[in-house]
Amino acid sequence: MPVTVAEEWLNSCSGCEISILNTGTALLDLLPELNFVHIPVLIDHKYFGQLGGGASMDIPEATVGIVSGSVRNEEHQHVLEEMRKKTKILIALGSCAAYGGIPSQANMFTRDEVFEKVFRGSPSTDAAPDPKHPNVPLWLESCKALDEIVKVDITIPGCPPHPDWIADAIGALLKGGTSWHLPERSVCDTCPVMREKKSAGGPVKRCLENLAFNPEEGLDKMRCINEQGFLCLGPVTLAGCAGKSGVPRCVQARTPCRGCFGPIRKSARPMVDMMGAMTSIGLDPKTVVDRRAIMNRYTGGHGNLKPLPARPAGR
Ligand code: SF4
Ligand code: SF4
Ligand code: SF4
Repeated sequence: MPVTVAEEWLNSCSGCEISILNTGTALLDLLPELNFVHIPVLIDHKYFGQLGGGASMDIPEATVGIVSGSVRNEEHQHVLEEMRKKTKILIALGSCAAYGGIPSQANMFTRDEVFEKVFRGSPSTDAAPDPKHPNVPLWLESCKALDEIVKVDITIPGCPPHPDWIADAIGALLKGGTSWHLPERSVCDTCPVMREKKSAGGPVKRCLENLAFNPEEGLDKMRCINEQGFLCLGPVTLAGCAGKSGVPRCVQARTPCRGCFGPIRKSARPMVDMMGAMTSIGLDPKTVVDRRAIMNRYTGGHGNLKPLPARPAGR
């Protein structure tokens, strides 16, 4: 009997769903053993019956539930709670679902400040009232990761997650497992660049200038990006973005890691740890522009990003 799977996307860009499709031949191998009973990105499904007349949300029961995207409004919360009720093993797919992701950058502002910026004060559009129509789901005060609302059994991080890990996690479940996780290693642990454990010092450079490297040479001949004076979040980011092949994807493209796989372990505080890593090689973390946002780029849920208290007048 195939294992039933229900998939949902909440506050999501659909990149995670593209990753499911990018599982490619591994997905073809798995498909005979899977029965997707609900996946709105591929199969039209009316939540309240075909004519919308149903009284309660209709998501079919399934053994495995996969949910991408963070929880931004009451509708997302409702769908997530329904997915939790209807599925036995719930997978948080992608860094939005796992940590709040990019949308949780908005947690640095109050809901009213966001509405002011987007609906009332945007210079490029006509001012509009807040989205308070009864058919528009109400925004929550903050953008949340799934496990701030319901119990999550398996987390597959990444923005987007690598297809290898989606196939790996589903494969483990098909063999009867109930858990799956990546090893606790940092991006630096899988990075082949040259390291001398010291930088030239000075303020951190912004990526408006190129790294120093010879395109004719391999990565093992390129100096570590942090040591070149740029901010690379490899020391505090979970390894695995390149799937089973190893070398971190951004470093392969000769650009810094931005932290999309999230912290190495759940209890870690990437910003504090990164400031320590920078100081240890002589870089001044206080010179990173917009440090709080940049070092929590994908991890604004779980209370990591909050509006700052208003400063007293004159300061
Ligand atoms: S984790 Fe990345 S790819 Fe997935 S929904 Fe969020 S923004 Fe999109
Ligand atoms: S800081 Fe960046 S470039 Fe340096 S070793 Fe770590 S991942 Fe590689
Ligand atoms: S190098 Fe960092 S930001 Fe780039 S894909 Fe890997 S984990 Fe994500």
